[in-house]
Amino acid sequence: MNELLSATGTTIFTVMSALAVQHGAINLGQGFPDYDGPPDVLKAAADALMDGRNQYPPMTGVPELRQAVAAANKRFYGIEVDPNAEVVVTSGATEAITASLMAVLNPGDEVVLIEPLYDTYVPTVKLLGAIPRIVRLSPPKWELPRAELAAAFGPKTKAILFNTPMNPTGKVFTAAELAFIADLVTRHDCYAICDEVYEHLTYDGWKHIPLMTLPGMRERSLRIGSAGKTFNLTGWKVGYVTCDRALQPNVAKAHQNLTFTTPPNLQRAVAVGLAKDDAYFASLGAELAARRDILAAGLTELGFHVLPAMGSYFVTADIRSIGFTGDDVAFCRTLTEEAKVTAIPVTAFYAGENPPNHYARFAFCKNESVLREALARIGAWM
Ligand code: PMP
Ligand code: GLN
Repeated sequence: MNELLSATGTTIFTVMSALAVQHGAINLGQGFPDYDGPPDVLKAAADALMDGRNQYPPMTGVPELRQAVAAANKRFYGIEVDPNAEVVVTSGATEAITASLMAVLNPGDEVVLIEPLYDTYVPTVKLLGAIPRIVRLSPPKWELPRAELAAAFGPKTKAILFNTPMNPTGKVFTAAELAFIADLVTRHDCYAICDEVYEHLTYDGWKHIPLMTLPGMRERSLRIGSAGKTFNLTGWKVGYVTCDRALQPNVAKAHQNLTFTTPPNLQRAVAVGLAKDDAYFASLGAELAARRDILAAGLTELGFHVLPAMGSYFVTADIRSIGFTGDDVAFCRTLTEEAKVTAIPVTAFYAGENPPNHYARFAFCKNESVLREALARIGAWM
């Protein structure tokens, strides 16, 4: 048996979703919308399925989707991308993260990670025989501790892997923070793996900036996106990596050994999605901001101290402010069992010792009536 996998628990998202089902709770835990993707994208998938696009597609992705990914890079960020040599389509961002790490790491290399972090990062880095060097952001501001970040880079650093807009904090990295990271990446001659799955989900005028757009970063960045978040289709698991032509063959070979290909009909539909007009992409942030405001205002009214969220599907709330004396795990369990509302304990996003244990993460990618019912249930429980 593999010891690292034996030591890895079942993901918190599966645990809490199962608990939600068991208790008939409204699931504001695992981050998935309770509304469907755009009808034209769904229809494109159905059409592609009936058109017989059902056998192995090209390994790095169907040409339409690689072209659409390249065009989206240009349209949203001005990044010139060769669709034939600089894109790999993967089965979700999860695979894209693993393939990107596989592409650059050798055993013994160090990878700088920023905590709180997505739960696949640390196990995947370790499974590849590499060493995580974790730098912690602290609530309530989640500011980048620059001196600590600089100290985490050293002669063995091969990559930094980080997420912006960030799950679970809702932080959007600023231009100045990204410039600081870019400088470290250049000085230490390493790579940046950029998990940008929430790239289009930003609020209040905040704009996502890909690290790849900063000077010197075009060749060193592996930029990861996901159709799951961009089209409200989390179950589709279509992701994509954009990187320099020198890196792409290794990402492709990692993908070849992980899944080899990704369902062709879904790829075709995601290509249709990425070509949607600017109004669609603008509407994503506007609609989600309204949902965030309902949930954040409702939780605040109930007495929670809710931290600001500039991006992503999530808000985090301080559970001490309602007088709850247990930790975040106890809170999320109790809330599910008694109030019939599920949230995710933020400690699940920490790998290091003594994480802050008084924050719960609530997903707001839900219909307004569901958010209001969840708030009513929490209010009745308190
Ligand atoms: N990274 C982050 C930060 C996420 O929140 C998620 C979850 N959706 C993923 C990666 C995985 O994305 P996908 O479902 O496309 O594999
Ligand atoms: N990314 C989603 C979240 O953070 C869930 C992904 C998963 O279930 N693995 O809630």
